[in-house]
Amino acid sequence: MRKHKNTILFVISWGLFIGLLLFSIIRLQQDSKIVNYTGIVRGGTQRLVKLELSGQPNDPLIESLDQILEELHTGNGPHHISKSHDLAFTEKLQDLSAMWKDLKRDIEAVRSTGGALERAALLQKSEAYFTLANETVFAAEQSSEYKLTFSLLLTALLTFVVFYGLMHLNKRQNAKLNRLLYTDPLTGIANQSAFADRALYLLRDNPSISYALVYFDINNFKYVNDAYGYETGDALLQAIAQYFDRHLSKSELCARINADHFALLTFNGEERDISLTKRIRVCIDQAVSDGIELNIADSLSYSFGIYQIVDHAEPVNSMMDKANIALKQAKNHEEMRTVSYNDALFAKLQRERQIEARMQSALQNAEFLVYLQPKVEISTNTMIGAESLVRWVSPEFGFLPPDEFIPLFEKNGFIAQLDFYVLDRVCRKMRQVIDDRLSDSFSISINLSRVTLYQDDFFERFTRIVERYKMPPSRIELEVTESAFIGNQEGILSVLERLKGMGFLIAMDDFGSGYSSLNLLKLLPIDVLKIDKQFLRESSKGDRSYRIIKCVIEMAKALDAQVVCEGVETKEQVDFLAQINCDIGQGYYFARPMAIADFEVAYNLH
Ligand code: C2E
Ligand code: CA
Ligand code: CA
Repeated sequence: MRKHKNTILFVISWGLFIGLLLFSIIRLQQDSKIVNYTGIVRGGTQRLVKLELSGQPNDPLIESLDQILEELHTGNGPHHISKSHDLAFTEKLQDLSAMWKDLKRDIEAVRSTGGALERAALLQKSEAYFTLANETVFAAEQSSEYKLTFSLLLTALLTFVVFYGLMHLNKRQNAKLNRLLYTDPLTGIANQSAFADRALYLLRDNPSISYALVYFDINNFKYVNDAYGYETGDALLQAIAQYFDRHLSKSELCARINADHFALLTFNGEERDISLTKRIRVCIDQAVSDGIELNIADSLSYSFGIYQIVDHAEPVNSMMDKANIALKQAKNHEEMRTVSYNDALFAKLQRERQIEARMQSALQNAEFLVYLQPKVEISTNTMIGAESLVRWVSPEFGFLPPDEFIPLFEKNGFIAQLDFYVLDRVCRKMRQVIDDRLSDSFSISINLSRVTLYQDDFFERFTRIVERYKMPPSRIELEVTESAFIGNQEGILSVLERLKGMGFLIAMDDFGSGYSSLNLLKLLPIDVLKIDKQFLRESSKGDRSYRIIKCVIEMAKALDAQVVCEGVETKEQVDFLAQINCDIGQGYYFARPMAIADFEVAYNLH
């Protein structure tokens, strides 16, 4: 709208300017015509007198001069001379016309008498006439010059006014545009671009101040929006933004980067990361309790990414990227909410990016290999099954154990594809050896990430693969960790119950490593309890741990679940497990995870 208005103003100004210029040119033309024709009157009269005196009267010339003079007076006539309104000129012209009448009378006299006296009088009159005509021409010229000067001055003035006005408008518009570009519309504080710009100057102007660039965001902001409505969410952001805007010193900065994401350029002082976070946290809490009537300050949590600025000349964008990297890392840590950027973190992320760039093609190129680790019945020392464990052998990264890529794949969701791929490979291999070379009780364990279990079509995809290879469900054991049940517990339980109903075995993996919920054991129909390797390691340390592991085994037995102890590395551990009636052991003592081909050789399955 504003732009439209300016364009109209611009067009009008230019129209006025061009109109004035045209008007001046036309006026100039008319004025020069007046000068010319006055000049003709002057010259023509001289000629006429000359002719009369030499006995050659010229009436058409008289008529023509009459006409021109008349036209100069009235502005009407065939020569299209316009009437001049210049006072000096019109007075002279009137005198000239009066004298012209006298002159014509003198001509008459010469014609009728032809006497020397009359001729002398005519000559004398013509001299006076010439002088007056000269003055009239001069007056016309002067009038024309005045007008021209006036027009030029007016045009220049108008041009100046128009351009000055436009420049002023432009400046105002630019200022408004700048405000829009550099201000966060919700909170009124600086936005990301403004932050980057101002940080550059602050760092340059304060070389002796030690600064930290801190990114922070509200972990449960979505909860605020959902529970209290968007208005409260907005008010919360505004309260935080305005608090920092008011309370920071002139040499510090704050900005809202996006959503619930803020940036601070603040003094670092002697404090380091955690205490810096604490200081900011106090400010945020104060901002929230000052600015929000609801009592929500205590229910909010925040993540902090810190970049300690060492070199003030480092590009601000790079500093902001680093604070952001640290923040992302902080958000991924449930328990560690403050992360300070360091080069190792950067290298880790770089590697993650490389891994992510390659994972899809690695799946297509069959770079993911299934390794098998035997599970051994302790009482008989016989192999009764195996756990499938994936490895990635890549031309770029070499041999990668799962810890290096599975956490990342769980973050980006790729683990679901990988789990189904492993299931497919395992089923295909089992199909080849199953009928004649595997004992009836042999089962193979598949690890399933919680991300995989949460896929909408998990049940369909899982059963489709198993059915494709006509695998008996009793030969497949699904290893699920406790963390899978955080969230949609009912959803996962119902899927697992359906699978159990079909005959698949369900194992609770890493039991005792996390937030072991005994309640879960009550709800989940597990067939196997896999005790985390950490447990076995601890149990050798003392009586208490020994009794705990013993109790866990008894409890599992009471629930009709088989117990598998992971991480069996020594003969002593095997003896210990035998003593406490643990059914199955898995660990380096029996065998390390191995490639399928090696497994087949080792267990005579080829
Ligand atoms: P997990 O399911 O607990 O697997 C057991 C891990 O313990 C394996 O590590 C195995 O190599 C290791 N291990 C076995 N015996 C011993 C021992 O005596 N001592 C010690 N210190 N370690 C032993 P790995 O193969 O590196 O796998 C790590 C984790 O990666 C697995 O832990 C599992 O959570 C995950 N994982 C592996 N393959 C897959 C997969 O195909 N899908 C999913 N979703 N996760 C997988
Ligand atoms: Ca496992
Ligand atoms: Ca485990």
